[in-house]
Amino acid sequence: MKTSEIRQKFLSFFESKGHQIVPSSSLVPGNDPTLLFTNAGMVQFKDVFTGKDTRSYRRATSSQRCVRAGGKHNDLENVGYTARHHTFFEMLGNFSFGDYFKREAIQYAWELLTTVYKLPAEKLWVTVYQEDDEAYDIWAREIGVPAERIIRIGDNKGARYASDNFWQMADTGPCGPCSEIFYDHGPEIWGGPPGSPDEDGDRYIEIWNLVFMQFERDAAGNMPQLPKPCVDTGMGLERIAAVLQHVHSNYEIDLFQALIQAAARETGATDLGDNSLKVIADHIRACSFLIVDGVIPSNEGRGYVLRRIVRRALRHGHKLGQSGTFFYRLVGDLVQQMGGAYPELAAQQSRVEQVLKQEEERFRETLEHGMKILDAALAGIAENGVLDGQTLFTLYDTYGFPVDLTADICRERNVQVDHEGFEVAMNRQRSQARAAGKFKAVEGLAYSGVDTRFEGYEHLQSQGKVTALYVDGTSVESLAAGQ
Ligand code: ATP
Ligand code: MG
Ligand code: MG
Ligand code: MG
Repeated sequence: MKTSEIRQKFLSFFESKGHQIVPSSSLVPGNDPTLLFTNAGMVQFKDVFTGKDTRSYRRATSSQRCVRAGGKHNDLENVGYTARHHTFFEMLGNFSFGDYFKREAIQYAWELLTTVYKLPAEKLWVTVYQEDDEAYDIWAREIGVPAERIIRIGDNKGARYASDNFWQMADTGPCGPCSEIFYDHGPEIWGGPPGSPDEDGDRYIEIWNLVFMQFERDAAGNMPQLPKPCVDTGMGLERIAAVLQHVHSNYEIDLFQALIQAAARETGATDLGDNSLKVIADHIRACSFLIVDGVIPSNEGRGYVLRRIVRRALRHGHKLGQSGTFFYRLVGDLVQQMGGAYPELAAQQSRVEQVLKQEEERFRETLEHGMKILDAALAGIAENGVLDGQTLFTLYDTYGFPVDLTADICRERNVQVDHEGFEVAMNRQRSQARAAGKFKAVEGLAYSGVDTRFEGYEHLQSQGKVTALYVDGTSVESLAAGQ
């Protein structure tokens, strides 16, 4: 089943169960200035859950474009390292606004997976929140999942991707237990079931999260029951596609294979299994859709996240031997894959290409120089060593290497980066600039949402440690990088 069919079958299934099909909203949330990007299907319905907004329907279904590359949900560091994480992905979801609750949500999910998608029941594992006997009993007694495949999970804070089966919108407001469905990709792959010490592995992959909004937490921590509980679910399209196409990694599905081949064509890479091709294929989706939704590469806020993703992709292209522009030429391939489902992407193809091409040209020369400097520095560092903060800062400041980009290169070579040293070097430059009277500090330029916690410059800005330094309205970074 092709990815596009899987998406369509999901929406049609829930439509047949009385759900209104709602189009994906923008990656830039229209209703929440504190959120960097839309990172789940429920974002466009936030106010409907709390009752602030009402709709003509009480059941909805969508395939929502999401980005998790900054803020609370940041999977940028996972791309190229796990089989299941993207910066951009589509979240299939069904929603009940005070209509059905746990029983129907679980029944629908099971019916879709086992009868429409025809997955073998014995490969599916489920988790429920520790205290949620109601959900446990529905899975055990009504659906008939054997007890050894139903796992109770608490507020597990241990492992890197720790399952945490209690969901909350914010510190106050709607919250409740969740129940997640995992697919067992088989014993050839390393990893343990959810909640086990080896759950960080990729054998048991989480495919679907069912959230039961049951309580409303107040500032004092009380949690009375909501008068009309709601349901919010999210299933990663690429993950379910991997399962249905009998492959392990999301990067092996039809859509990604097409993008990986295109990336190989444009970079000259010959090994289609190369991680850099996966990263480029992932990043062209995130970058293109961010541009479609109005984000432009810049030095702050959302635009800086976009810039970081573009530069990361270009660095991987460079690693594959491509030192010219290439990234923008993948937009056409992406349109072929996703333009049908997202006409707004097809309509803006040439604009997206232009923005990316310009951004590529801007970084090309400093990338080449910066790589030489970094390679020289790394040649003198033993494995498990540390790249010093001054080099990290010089690369950032003079060559336009975002800190995460340098860290990504270092990680490939088992070298750490000295974030504290970076801050010291940044502060030193700042006070020198101040002393020379050349720069003036300008407040309030950074994106001010609470989710703004990028590494490096952005990070420092959000911490209130530095403000953007400007001369004649141009930032220090862009001046220094000769942009
Ligand atoms: P994981 O534990 O694997 O990081 P998650 O628990 O963070 O996933 P949720 O926030 O529960 O994910 O999101 C709902 C669903 O969206 C997940 O079950 C998964 O199918 C999908 N999903 C989440 N993050 C990603 C990602 N970075 N790339 C692709 N799909 C994702
Ligand atoms: Mg996650
Ligand atoms: Mg999870
Ligand atoms: Mg989850």
